[in-house]
Amino acid sequence: MIIIPESAIATLVTPADCLKAVEEVFASMANRSAYNFPVIREAIGHADALYGFKSGFDRKSLALGLKSGGFWPNNASRGLTNHQSTIFLFDADTGKCRAVVGGNLLTALRTAAASAISIKYLARKDAKVLGMIGAGHQSTFQLRAALEQRPFEKIVAWNPHPDMLSRLEEVAKQEGLPFEAVDRDRLGAESDVIISITSSFAPLLKASQVRAGTHLACMGTDTKGKQEVEAELLAAATVFADDLSQAVSIGESQHAAQKGLLAIDSIIEIGAVVNGTHPGRTSIDEITLFDGTGVALQDLSVASAVVDLALARGVAVDIDF
Ligand code: NAD
Repeated sequence: MIIIPESAIATLVTPADCLKAVEEVFASMANRSAYNFPVIREAIGHADALYGFKSGFDRKSLALGLKSGGFWPNNASRGLTNHQSTIFLFDADTGKCRAVVGGNLLTALRTAAASAISIKYLARKDAKVLGMIGAGHQSTFQLRAALEQRPFEKIVAWNPHPDMLSRLEEVAKQEGLPFEAVDRDRLGAESDVIISITSSFAPLLKASQVRAGTHLACMGTDTKGKQEVEAELLAAATVFADDLSQAVSIGESQHAAQKGLLAIDSIIEIGAVVNGTHPGRTSIDEITLFDGTGVALQDLSVASAVVDLALARGVAVDIDF
């Protein structure tokens, strides 16, 4: 069994490797050669933790396994990140455990890859201003991955806790791009692409604040009850998602679906755009919205890429198990 500790991930895999892996598995999901199993998520009644696992199988790449972990809100006081996860890969031919891979950095990279893929396929080609809503741990990964997809000329940002915006400003500085903290009216009025990545339980952006032609990647809503944008915005947009059933149950689409503003069969799988069976954006005025809920197959695809890279470089730790 191969062990890849959390500390080794950053030296093995690049955001570009993750984008390629996630793009391929999104296409496999749309081709029905890869599928996610039902998600388990439980409040365990200890340490205020939310624990769960996401699993799936890709018949094309033979990636089989699960990501296990969750949210431990008191970890910061122990010097640990609150989100903890580990990815287990199994041999699809024998069921033997093939690899155990640290999942914390990979979660951020695969989540950033998903929104970047949505920007790659759905944002207008002439997009110049990137709007960020959210400035937590995931936000810098989201920002860096987005900047690879279009030659953005400016970053505008808003966060419910404004003091956190400095981490985005730092990335903008490193990338040599102007950065401005703005209110939500300006963010909507100026942005060609908007990424939302907060843990909000109430809409932060109204439909009336978003202009025609905008692409939104709503990435923060991954649990029942969370919400980042008004349900009416999904009614006005063409909605794409990583996984349709997750979108209407735990994703941003849940609220519009509950209000009868969005039917599940009107949501388009992003993999269908990747594999060319859906055209994606069809006009410059269309509002496109990607509901990225986070699927197991993203985790399995990036973990498999890491294992392949470790084997190719001769640095994999292989133990008899
Ligand atoms: P974080 O705790 O580091 O940052 C939280 C962010 O949400 C900050 O911007 C903070 O200001 C904001 N926030 C906190 N409480 C809020 C509230 N009550 N209302 C509105 N905003 C609030 O978290 P993170 O690791 O950056 O994750 C952000 C979100 O992304 C979380 O909801 C997380 O579950 C989700 N997430 C989604 C995926 C996916 O695949 N879609 C993957 C990882 C994380």
